[in-house]
Amino acid sequence: MSEEKSNNFIEEIVEQDLKEGKYKRILTRFPPEPNGYLHIGHAKSICLNFGLTMKYNGDTNLRFDDTNPVTEDTEYVESIKEDIRWLGFSWINEFYASDYFERLHEFAIELIKKGLAYVDDSTSEQIALEKGSHTTPGIENKYRSRSVEENLQLFAGMKNGQFKEGEKVLRAKINMASTNMHMRDPVMYRIKYAYHHRTGDKWCIYPLYDFAHGQSDSIEKITHSVCTLEFVPHRELYDWYIKELGIFPSHQYEFARLNMTYTVMSKRKLLQLVNEQFVSGWDDPRMPTISGLRRKGYTPSSIRLFCEKIGIARRDNLIDISLLEFCIREELNTTANRRMAVINPVKLIIENYEDGRSERVTLENLPNEPENVREVSFGREIYIEREDFMEIPVKKWFRLAPGQMVRLKGAYIIKCERIEKDQSGEVSCIYCSYFPESKSGHDTSNMKVKGVIHWVHALDCVPAEFRLYSHLFKSENPALESGDFKDDINPDSLIVKRGVIENGMKTSPYGNHFQFLRNGYFCVDKDSKAENLVFNRTVGLKDSFVPQKKN
Ligand code: ATP
Ligand code: MG
Repeated sequence: MSEEKSNNFIEEIVEQDLKEGKYKRILTRFPPEPNGYLHIGHAKSICLNFGLTMKYNGDTNLRFDDTNPVTEDTEYVESIKEDIRWLGFSWINEFYASDYFERLHEFAIELIKKGLAYVDDSTSEQIALEKGSHTTPGIENKYRSRSVEENLQLFAGMKNGQFKEGEKVLRAKINMASTNMHMRDPVMYRIKYAYHHRTGDKWCIYPLYDFAHGQSDSIEKITHSVCTLEFVPHRELYDWYIKELGIFPSHQYEFARLNMTYTVMSKRKLLQLVNEQFVSGWDDPRMPTISGLRRKGYTPSSIRLFCEKIGIARRDNLIDISLLEFCIREELNTTANRRMAVINPVKLIIENYEDGRSERVTLENLPNEPENVREVSFGREIYIEREDFMEIPVKKWFRLAPGQMVRLKGAYIIKCERIEKDQSGEVSCIYCSYFPESKSGHDTSNMKVKGVIHWVHALDCVPAEFRLYSHLFKSENPALESGDFKDDINPDSLIVKRGVIENGMKTSPYGNHFQFLRNGYFCVDKDSKAENLVFNRTVGLKDSFVPQKKN
């Protein structure tokens, strides 16, 4: 990769800064708000922030941006830490924006004393109205000219709980006519009588994002503060606070946020899916969360590869989810042990195979590793996939059909002699004969068949549940759909099948990966127990998804 031109413009900035000696060592931060679980979009930001400092020998702080007491929770804090570690990164410091409440409060007083902040009694509606628009300047209201003493006194009153929520706010005094709306006297503090997950009831005023974020960066001496593009218009304000307070000059850089097809990425929407039980939880394998992807069978390296492939762009784009699937498929193709599982079984009896007899057949665990094999038992009664039999075969059908022959993977060639159906007309048993000289590896039969199918010995197998996932949404960009995004949920995003699997897999621990021959890549789910094995389909063997055409 190193000879290729970098697809990461932030790396170029860092390289330049280091060359010019602007910093001796770079320091980045990953600043999640603990109001939900991390998703694949966050993974992009994590790979960028930690990736930069790994490459250029710096450090990364983990900072919980916990300035909004209402939506935050320690459950989220723990899950965020677990997910970052799992992705393979470690932070040098764990900080909380709430650790800086005291400092931020001092900064606010400093700005008041410099005549750069004032207490405003207007309602939020009034403030919004007076802000003006992109074409008209805002209005300077009467509170703007309050004296420093009065402002100090009122701000102390806000802090001491003398006022009700919404009764007063503290605003920066910048420029009500600025072309940048964010510079029109932005709110710095609001009153909120809410319990905070770390500071408890100590505070009843809380800083807004813009007043907390840059100053937190500066307190930590962050050199490169990267965030997503929607913060471009905030940068002027970020710089203004730092300049007026005369504190460490952190710099903000923006990159495109990751959007992916067939899913939604905002925590607010993901929380709705969880709360309204469209999914089983934050770690439902259909969720784009790190924990969901992990449970589905994604590995840290596949997610890191995906983040590297998409690069760091300056413009928003929509990434095809099949790129993510490609990354895990490529990896599992070389690492996942092969096994035979029959997901939709039908019984098959080989009538000329002696009753009570069984034998071992040898199968490869991984391609191109002839020494790496296992033995699987074979006998008179087996299961095959229902889809591998066709009573009236279509043209070029090389699998089983009346009178037709097929090879059982690693075992013998069989021929379908007759079938039996149940009352509903469904095939209940397929009767075959086999050719004893055709055993794989010892084949002296000279017979040629085109089809090879997998199977499981009926007397030596274990029942298992297979959870087959497809995209959670029907359309490519559900976030763009008009109306409720939940109306776009794919009703077939989870299909549960009960089938059988070759014996010897009872002890596979949670997270173990397999390729079930001809069926796809699967991993052991956390619900799996020795008496009820559960497998999640991570991804199919090849990209087979056909998007629905919109009318
Ligand atoms: P959401 O809208 O999903 O709640 P957020 O931006 O509010 O996302 P934060 O917890 O504030 O979530 O994000 C932490 C960091 O992750 C921020 O620096 C943010 O820019 C980054 N981030 C969040 N979503 C994405 C995304 N889709 N692509 C890239 N980076 C992202
Ligand atoms: Mg946020």
